[in-house]
Amino acid sequence: MTPRSAHPKEDNGKQPAADYVGRFAPTPSGPLHIGSLLTAVASWLDARAARGTWLVRIDDLDAPRVDPDAESAILAALESHGLRWDGRVHRQSDHQERHDVAISQLGARCFACGCTRRELRGLDRYPGTCRDRGLPPDGNALRVRAESAAPGFTDRVQGHVDMSHRTVGDFIVRRRDGFASYPLAVVVDDLAIGVNNVVRGADLLDNTPEQLLLAWWLGMEAPTYAHLPVVVEGSGVKLSKHNRATAIDNRWAPHNLAAVLSLLGFDPPLDRVETMLAWAVDEWDIARVPQGTALAGFFAIDR
Ligand code: GLU
Repeated sequence: MTPRSAHPKEDNGKQPAADYVGRFAPTPSGPLHIGSLLTAVASWLDARAARGTWLVRIDDLDAPRVDPDAESAILAALESHGLRWDGRVHRQSDHQERHDVAISQLGARCFACGCTRRELRGLDRYPGTCRDRGLPPDGNALRVRAESAAPGFTDRVQGHVDMSHRTVGDFIVRRRDGFASYPLAVVVDDLAIGVNNVVRGADLLDNTPEQLLLAWWLGMEAPTYAHLPVVVEGSGVKLSKHNRATAIDNRWAPHNLAAVLSLLGFDPPLDRVETMLAWAVDEWDIARVPQGTALAGFFAIDR
């Protein structure tokens, strides 16, 4: 391998990796809405069309966002929509040791940071305040020294993603509460469970450079990425649990599937979910998914 100070090279092609392992990794902050169903359906189809494995991982490290009823609601919705996963359900909170091991592998790249969110408000990136303060790690967040040009990459939906306008500042790998940050946990867990194809929402495009750098520093091969346009409401705001996008109604599973497939660029016959999914596996071609980061849909937001 080339020296660790070098950048990850851009080598992800348009093709899915061989021996495909994909995943759907919802944060259990609420039930599935039509936008998260679209992500689940696209990642399932991409895995099944490649005769690959499809895993479900519950990203439950952000305790204040976790809704105790959400996991069972999400799994029930996946089942009602015919989206069967392979093996057991994975949970990030079961794997804190491997996050800690990865953080210790980053070693001297990490430093403790005592800055509050308020102190950093309005800055487009971390100004390096605590880099050389030698603060104790206990009770503080840990950041990794980055300050490098954000690596670009080839995305199976978005094509070449140029990040040269961006610099990755020192970012958090372990939060003050002791849990791994989202980019650290997602990289470590994807690689630990063998995920080599990530199909997820384009709202995570901006976080991908941090993830590529982490994989590189940890000496791991990054997965191939496909970032799907996210479903937005009329005003352009992403549907999310946060803005109380309405939960999908499992009794209308074929209609929900038809809605997401049509947003993805497919026109399925309305039928039983199994029949619709079998049709969609045959038809699936990720190149037909609209490029761009937003898809307008007419979906209810529960205010
Ligand atoms: N858990 C993240 C979310 O629900 C997605 C993680 C990922 O796909 O990388 O937004």
